[in-house]
Amino acid sequence: MIATEEKTQNGHQEDFYNSILSRCRQAATILGLDEDTYNALIAPSKEVKVNLTVKMDNGRVKVFEGYRVIHSIYLGPGKGGIRYANNVNIDEVRALATGMTLKNAVVDVPFGGAKGGIKCNPREMTKGELERLTRAYAYQLADIIGPDRDIPAPDVGTDSQIMAWLVDAYSRRVGFSSPGVVTGKPLVMGGSLGRVEATGRGVMITALAAMEKLGMNPNETTAAVQGFGNVGSISARLLAEKGIKIKAISDVSGGYYNEKGIDIDLAIDYYNSHDMSLEGFTGADIISNDELLTADVNLLVPAAIEDQITSQNADRIKARLIVEGANGPTSAAADKFFIDKDIMVVPDILANAGGVTVSYFEWAQNRMGYYWDIDRVYRREDRAMNAAFERVYATAKHYKTDMRIAAYIVAIDKISSTMKLRGVF
Ligand code: GLU
Repeated sequence: MIATEEKTQNGHQEDFYNSILSRCRQAATILGLDEDTYNALIAPSKEVKVNLTVKMDNGRVKVFEGYRVIHSIYLGPGKGGIRYANNVNIDEVRALATGMTLKNAVVDVPFGGAKGGIKCNPREMTKGELERLTRAYAYQLADIIGPDRDIPAPDVGTDSQIMAWLVDAYSRRVGFSSPGVVTGKPLVMGGSLGRVEATGRGVMITALAAMEKLGMNPNETTAAVQGFGNVGSISARLLAEKGIKIKAISDVSGGYYNEKGIDIDLAIDYYNSHDMSLEGFTGADIISNDELLTADVNLLVPAAIEDQITSQNADRIKARLIVEGANGPTSAAADKFFIDKDIMVVPDILANAGGVTVSYFEWAQNRMGYYWDIDRVYRREDRAMNAAFERVYATAKHYKTDMRIAAYIVAIDKISSTMKLRGVF
């Protein structure tokens, strides 16, 4: 049997990677998993660090740190996004890669888990600099990624244009066109319809499924959404379309609150026409990030970045339902507050898995060379997300645990059974 105390790097449960390890251990303990299988399951398979030399527009050469962690390949090739942000580091990428392994198992897509990142500030770089940085990364990782090895996708700070450069750089290096090496591509070069909105759509589907279980009527529900990137803005728009009143939104410029509800289409137009920022948005009062998270709403959707909900603020959250659009927004130390107060948390590895689900459809379409219409994408995504939600919900009931640990149980059960069948050498 495994020991109940995780030997975490620094012993506490407030940071991202240690939070994941702590929940893995809780789930493995409930499953009665043996120590050897557990240790093999959580250990990252491969961690790569590259130094990327890029010529900047001013003629200088700058060195950027890049990472790719392939956490697991038991269920299929590595799969997960690439993040461009200033705070990217190996611990974060390892945590995100571990999260992808679990997420992919929860939604039953035939992938292991991986994640990449480059420490940079894409907002301060020109298009040419971003292109050269991306090509340098693809060049250095060409032996690691591939449609059957590891398949990147967008994440915080990256988009379909960056995916296009990755495909091009990789294809040139291998000598043939290889669209299936990356997902989240532009439509014209083998992207899938529905991929852009896939993560937000999954957040909406799982939020509605959870609301039904809790007897919450969308027309009487109010929400706060943290983050206004791809996930936050589209989640807010789709939830509003279902009748939910979005009282608060936020981005890096701050929080915006309107008691009567924010017009999300207006906010999206504002954001897009103001250099991807809500700064100066007038349809609401300005609030702090803390005020947004603790706002008087029924539904909270953290859809920004990790480490937002901790033991510092968890006890002040008023929502009955939290649906995690971001990866790792809640620390393990905060979990118990929600269990005690009977607040349902639809965890990241379930709630935001719509993105990778449609990434799987994109990869499958690339391999078939046959492309689906939008109705088929939506239908299959909705079906996959609802099935995953029900699987996790039933597991939570069966083991008398919360939705987060239930999702970890679903994932660890699937991965550990596969590991045992495959064996070790
Ligand atoms: N970056 C997204 C995530 O965290 C999508 C990953 C993918 O599509 O591979 O789930």
